[in-house]
Amino acid sequence: MVGLFDEPSVTYAHVAVERGVDQFPEGLSYGVPARLLPLKIGQLVTVPLGRGNTPTQAWVLSLTDEAPVLAAGKETKQIFEKDRETIALPSDLVELARWMSQYYFSPIGPTLSTMLPGPVRQGTGLVTKQLLDFADNQADECKLTTKQQQVLHALNAMPKSQRPVEPKVLMKAANVRSKSPIDSLVARGYLHCHHVTTVEATWFKHAVDATTPESLTKEQTNVLRAIEEKLQSGYSSHLLFGVTGSGKTEIYIRLIEQAIEGGGVALVLVPEISLTPQTAARLMGRFPDKRIAILHSALTKSQRHQQWALVAEGKADIVLGARSAVFAPLQNDQIRIIIVDEEHDSSFKQDNSPRYHGRDVAIRRASMAKCPIVLGSATPSMESWWNATERKISTLHKLTTRAPGLVAPQIEVVDMRSERIHGEVGYPILSTKLQRALHTTLACDGQVLLLLNRRGFAPWIACASRTCGWMMKCDHCDSSMVYHRKKPLEHAGFVRCHHCGTEQRVPKQCPDCAKKIIQLGAGTQRVEATLRESLQIPAEQIARLDGDTTRKASDLQEMLARFGKGEIRVLLGTQMIAKGLDFPNVQLVGIIDADTAIDLPDFRASERTYQLVSQVCGRCGRGQGKAIAIVQTFSPNAPAIVLASKAEYEQFASQELQFRCDASLPPVTRMVRFIVKDTPFDQAASRADSLVDRLRAIASTDISISPAAPCVLPRIADRFRFEVIGTAATSKALQEFLALARKTIKPSRDFVVDVDPISML
Ligand code: ADP
Ligand code: ZN
Ligand code: ZN
Repeated sequence: MVGLFDEPSVTYAHVAVERGVDQFPEGLSYGVPARLLPLKIGQLVTVPLGRGNTPTQAWVLSLTDEAPVLAAGKETKQIFEKDRETIALPSDLVELARWMSQYYFSPIGPTLSTMLPGPVRQGTGLVTKQLLDFADNQADECKLTTKQQQVLHALNAMPKSQRPVEPKVLMKAANVRSKSPIDSLVARGYLHCHHVTTVEATWFKHAVDATTPESLTKEQTNVLRAIEEKLQSGYSSHLLFGVTGSGKTEIYIRLIEQAIEGGGVALVLVPEISLTPQTAARLMGRFPDKRIAILHSALTKSQRHQQWALVAEGKADIVLGARSAVFAPLQNDQIRIIIVDEEHDSSFKQDNSPRYHGRDVAIRRASMAKCPIVLGSATPSMESWWNATERKISTLHKLTTRAPGLVAPQIEVVDMRSERIHGEVGYPILSTKLQRALHTTLACDGQVLLLLNRRGFAPWIACASRTCGWMMKCDHCDSSMVYHRKKPLEHAGFVRCHHCGTEQRVPKQCPDCAKKIIQLGAGTQRVEATLRESLQIPAEQIARLDGDTTRKASDLQEMLARFGKGEIRVLLGTQMIAKGLDFPNVQLVGIIDADTAIDLPDFRASERTYQLVSQVCGRCGRGQGKAIAIVQTFSPNAPAIVLASKAEYEQFASQELQFRCDASLPPVTRMVRFIVKDTPFDQAASRADSLVDRLRAIASTDISISPAAPCVLPRIADRFRFEVIGTAATSKALQEFLALARKTIKPSRDFVVDVDPISML
C-alpha cells in the first residue's frame, strides 16, 4: 500500500512502442500523470506518438524522477492511459527482453510483445466476479430476516483471509439456496459488493502416468548426484547426453522434486507438447500434489490466458511448455531450475522476429535467475556438445545404456540403389526388407512407425519425355510444385507450392512438348496409398500423421491416443512422429528416405540427418518383443547414416566438429545471416551489394562478411532473396559488430537479420 507521504516520486517513464521505429536501448521519455501512479516496469501503456499524437501502445522499460533533456521549445508528453495491470510483465522479463533485443538484433517493443501470449493481451476468457464483504457502517441486525442473518453470521465466521468472498461461497457457508438475501443486504447497506475482472483459474486434469521405477540405475544415480550438488549453488549449466530411453526424464523428475522442495518454480521446456503428451502425463503423475501450469498452442485461448495468469500470480510449482514458455511470467528469484528436453530440436528457434532460440534464452534466464539449467538430448546439438566438451562452459553427464527393460533397436541400413525394380522407371517406396519386416511385425501383433519427411503425394510433376526436361515450378517461387491427391486412393488431385501456398490444377499434358505428365518421387500420401494397397489389414488401422491430416492440435492428440490403444497399427508421418513418442508395442520403425535432410544445401544437413535417424530409431524397443529399425537411403556410406545406425554419437560429433572447425562454421564460429528480399531481381541484388559495403565499412578484423549471394531458394512469393553472412570468432566479437551495425541498419519485413541462424534456406 502506498501511504500519503511515501507516494513514489516517479514522474517520468521510458517506454518502447510496440510498432514502428526501434527504440533500443533506452526508449522514449514520457511524463507520468499522478492519476496513473503507481506505474510498474513491464506495464503496457498508451502514449501519444509523433506529431499527430497518435495513441500508441508501449511498454514501460524504466521509471525515473529525472526530467528528460529536451530540445528547446519541446515539452515532455504525458502517458495517456495504462492497460489492465494483470497483463504487466515481471520486471525481470523486461531485463531479459533488453538482452534479447540486443543479442538478436530485434526491436525492443515487439520483443516484449512476443513475451505476452495473445489471449492474455486480448483478455480472452476474462470474467467479472462479485466479491462481498461487510460494509463499513453496520446497521442493527434486528430488522433482518433469518436468511439474511444467516448470511451475516456466516460471513462473520469466515477467517479474514477468505474475505472478500464470492456470492456462491457465501451462500454455501450460510446454507441459503437463493442469492436474494445477499442482494437485499447489499441494497440495505449491510454488505459491500465490488466487482473484479479476472480470469477463472483452473488446473488441468490430464491423463496421468505415475509409474515410478523401483530404483535408479547406477549411471542414473551418478548423474543425479553430480547435478544435485549444484542445485543450491547458483547458475550452472549441464548437458545430459543420454540415448533415447536411458531414463533422462526420470532424472528431470528427481531434480525438479528437490529443486522446488522449499518453494519456487521449475521451468520445463519441451519442443512441442502435443507431440510429447507423455512428458506432461508423467510430470502430472509424479507430482500429484504440485500445481503444474501448461503453456502450449493446443489449449484454447482462454485456457492459455488462465495458465499464464496462474503462473503470474505465483500459483504454479512447475511450468511446462514449448519455446515461448521460456517467457513464463516469473521473477528471477522464483525460478529454481530450468530443464530443456530435446535441446537439439530446431523448433526451439523462432523463425520470425525476434528470431530467438528458446534453449539459448533459457540459458540466459538461468544465469539471470542464478539457478541450474539442464539440457537433455540423445543427440545433442553441435552447439551444446561444443560448449560441454571444448569450451567446458557446461558439464557433460552421460547415460550410455537404456533403462532396465528396454532393448536397443537393431538398426539396418538398406541401400536403395540396389532396389531398382526390373524393367520399371524409378525405385520402389518400400524396399523388400522393409516390406518383409512390415508383414512379420503385423503378423505378431506389433505396431509400426514409418517416417517420411515430405508431405503430399509426389514432390515433382514432370514431363515423361527424357529429352524435354519440363518440370512444374511455382509461378511465384523458385521451387517445384508438389502434387497432392484429394484422397489417398483416388486419382483426383492438385498441385501446391509449399513455400507460398499457391495452388493450381495439374496440366493434362506437358506444356512444352505435349507428352504425358508423370509424378516423380514420394510424399507421405503416396506412402499411405502404397500401404493401403499392399497391407492386408483393415483400413482404419493405417493412419497418416502430417501437417495436412492434423490441422487442429486435437486431431493429433486423437490420432496418438488411437495409436496408444492399438487401434492404429501402422502410423506413418513426417518428423512429427520422430519426437518424444513412447509406445511400448512399437516393434518396427522404418525411415522411408533418410536423405531428405542430407541433400539440403545447409551446413547442418549432416547433423540433422544424424538426429532424425537416431531419434526415429529410438521410438522402438520400449517394451517387450522385437525392436527393428530399417533405414532406407541412397547414401548408405554417409557418415551421419552409418554412425547413427551404430549409435556412435560421440564419433559423429567429433568428426562433425572437425568439419565445422576446418570450414570456420558454427559452433566453432558465430554467425549472423542477413537476408534482403526485394523485387525486381536487380534491385534486390544492388541492395544486398550496398549492404555488404556498409557492413564491411564497420567490420573489425575479427569479422568476415561474405559477398552477397542469392539464397538457396532465390525467390519466394515473387520476392528475390539475397543473403550476406557475417562470421566472427566469438560471440563477443559478433555482438560488438552488431551493436555498431545497429546504428546504421534497421531490420524490417524485407530485411531480415538472423543471429545464430538455424535454417540456411
Ligand atoms: P528418456 O527420457 O531418456 O527417453 P525415460 O526417462 O523416458 O528415458 O525412460 C524410459 C523408460 O524407462 C520409462 O518408461 C521409464 O519409466 C523407465 N525407466 C527409467 N529409469 C528407470 C529405472 N531406473 N528402472 C526402470 N525403469 C526405468
Ligand atoms: Zn510458390
Ligand atoms: Zn515435355
